Amino acid sequence: MTMLYVAYACLCLFVFAVGAVIGSFLNVVVYRLPRKINVAKGFSFCPACEHRLYPKDLIPLFSYLFLGGKCRYCKAKISPRYFLVETLAGAALLLFCIGFGLPAAILYFAVFSCLLCITLIDADTQEIPDSLNLAILICGVAAIWVQADVSLLSRFIGLFVISLPLFLISLIISGAFGMGDVKLMFAAGFLLGWQHALVAFFIALLLGGVYGVIVLATRKKGRKDHFAFGPCLAAGICVALLCGEEILRIYLATM
Ligand SMILES: [Zn+2]
Repeated sequence: MTMLYVAYACLCLFVFAVGAVIGSFLNVVVYRLPRKINVAKGFSFCPACEHRLYPKDLIPLFSYLFLGGKCRYCKAKISPRYFLVETLAGAALLLFCIGFGLPAAILYFAVFSCLLCITLIDADTQEIPDSLNLAILICGVAAIWVQADVSLLSRFIGLFVISLPLFLISLIISGAFGMGDVKLMFAAGFLLGWQHALVAFFIALLLGGVYGVIVLATRKKGRKDHFAFGPCLAAGICVALLCGEEILRIYLATM
């Protein structure tokens, strides 16, 4: 029996490690995509001193811990965000595998990875790269087989149910929503189907409201300043993907 537990623990550790390695790659994507640097080519380098980083500097989680969160070469502080993203990715892959099994876990993790990148890039630059929205749409196509309970009709309506109103609002009130937000809800609508797309958007609005109140209360930004809505949308999409059905059921039961 104990052997079985040890084997299970090893398997969990392995899955977590795979997730952390992918998280390490996501960090590269978040840094390079907005700077138009090829994601797949070239060596990794320190953003502060541009010293080339070697495999010993790039071991997910461990390198950060052993180097005390500093660059080995110039001792510049490395943002704890790198460590956080790797941990989050590892934990997400492990939880999805335990909770949903294959192949759903792979789909969910792919979507989660895209959403994580969108969240960080939008927070950094107030823009969402088209390539990430396209990746979500491709996940939506894969979902036709993985989540067969969402009908094709629901997916096609989902393309427009949020994105079209967002687009119209952005025409009337310039700067209300970015085109990145519109495209994101277009892609996510197909992934989720229209019912869950509504759930996602409702959660995003709630989060946006809470976030807006906090920003106003702490007075970091003036009333006129924009704030990135992409992270709110990304969180809503993620929650709707994982438990949209449960949320809908609870909501309809309380009506
Ligand atoms: Zn450095």
